[in-house]
Amino acid sequence: MTTNFNEFPLSPELQNALKDLDYSTPTEVQQKVLPHALKEQDLIVKAQTGSGKTAAFAIPICENIEWIENKPQALVLTPTRELAVQVKEEFTNIGRYKRIKATALYGKQPFRYQQDELKQKTHIAVGTPGRVLDHIEKGTLKLDKIRYVVLDEADEMLNMGFIEQVEAILAHVEHREVMMLFSATVPESIKKLASNYLNDPVDIEVQSEEAAPKIEHAVIEVQDEEKTAAVEKIAVVENPDTCIIFCRTKDRVDALHDYLYDREYSVDKLHGGMDQSTRLLVMNDYKRGDFRYLVATDVAARGIDIENISLVINYDLPMEKEAYVHRTGRTGRAGKEGKAVTFVTPFEHDFLAGIEELIGFTITKVDLPTHEEVEAKAEAFDKKMQSRPQKKKQKNAKVDANITKLYFNGGKKKKLRAVDFVGTIAKIPGMTAADIGIITILDTSTFVEILNGKGNLVLKAMKTTPIKGKQLKVHISTSNN
Ligand code: AMP
Repeated sequence: MTTNFNEFPLSPELQNALKDLDYSTPTEVQQKVLPHALKEQDLIVKAQTGSGKTAAFAIPICENIEWIENKPQALVLTPTRELAVQVKEEFTNIGRYKRIKATALYGKQPFRYQQDELKQKTHIAVGTPGRVLDHIEKGTLKLDKIRYVVLDEADEMLNMGFIEQVEAILAHVEHREVMMLFSATVPESIKKLASNYLNDPVDIEVQSEEAAPKIEHAVIEVQDEEKTAAVEKIAVVENPDTCIIFCRTKDRVDALHDYLYDREYSVDKLHGGMDQSTRLLVMNDYKRGDFRYLVATDVAARGIDIENISLVINYDLPMEKEAYVHRTGRTGRAGKEGKAVTFVTPFEHDFLAGIEELIGFTITKVDLPTHEEVEAKAEAFDKKMQSRPQKKKQKNAKVDANITKLYFNGGKKKKLRAVDFVGTIAKIPGMTAADIGIITILDTSTFVEILNGKGNLVLKAMKTTPIKGKQLKVHISTSNN
């Protein structure tokens, strides 16, 4: 077993990024995937989120990307927008010191914005099938340099009815070298997809103890109208640091959220009826630990990597039984313990039996906490209600720490190119080309990342240094683009 990333033939840029992300030991899926993926073999990988699967494909792809090429070399398809953004971030973090540029393509965000991004150097395109196909058909996403294709959470993409779009996209990819399919489950439909598109794939399955979440499952029978009161009792007794509560519909999310909000819970919500930018803000706040209770539909259940959720409440049973696995997989991650409490109404026992058959064990039936049990825990609960949730560590803090993004008020219209910026900035005393990160040139502005804590040095110098004979205005950028 490989216990250190040093044992893989990875460039120093990647080794350093992994170190700064605190990825000290490869997870099981990474140990199994990396040797094959680095050798450019097709793979079908059965692995859950939480296993480190994103890095398992992101590391070899970042390693093999040719920086100089402007058109996308890797295409990653994901079932949801949130996952697309998260996978893009993983690529950005891992590829940071190699200056890898990844772009997320998903619905609801303006097409124009993504079109502009794609005009820039883009090494990796990550997106949901509908929007990716849209870009391909409009000619804004070029696939002629694609060497790597990843289908992430393939089972979920098929469940969501994306198969035709996925196949249409694959039909446009002509010269790919490696294709990797990642899926939590491998039903017949996935095997068929694999046999149609993968060349003699290596089969990888991950199911070690370490990856298996330690989750305590419980089910409680309640009438529908008792559910809100039941949530409160569970909240008091369990007194979680962070909790996610799943409801069937957005109206039910809204109603439960408002109920808890009125009772001064530290709560926010997430469902598909909210606009995309709000959803991303809520996700980020939750990831940072800005609030304690998240009420959500299944939109939030898949693939979203949030650390240390101690309690999952299934306020409603999921519509699809597979979603039970994904919902409860939000807790018990990374070796931590977690608890999943599921409400079932008297008419839902057949459905519950279906879930139990899928997961392969019977969920323990428990009673609602009694009045005495709630009373006994009330003081501790009130105390936690008064305190802010613990701030969570941002894993990219170190890779981002020494980076300053500078804004320049000139871009394509002034005929400026990346080499003009690199050429000028690298000549500043104390600077080398390796201190320059991702450069994004728009029509009338340019963003340049300066690495290694040298932002102020460059800022000062560029106030009086022209680029291609033009003196541009420069300041520190606060934009997240
Ligand atoms: P994933 O299964 O891709 O959703 O990843 C689950 C979590 O594990 C993410 O927060 C990753 O940042 C983290 N992770 C991935 N690889 C490693 C590693 N080798 N060591 C520590 N954490 C990791």
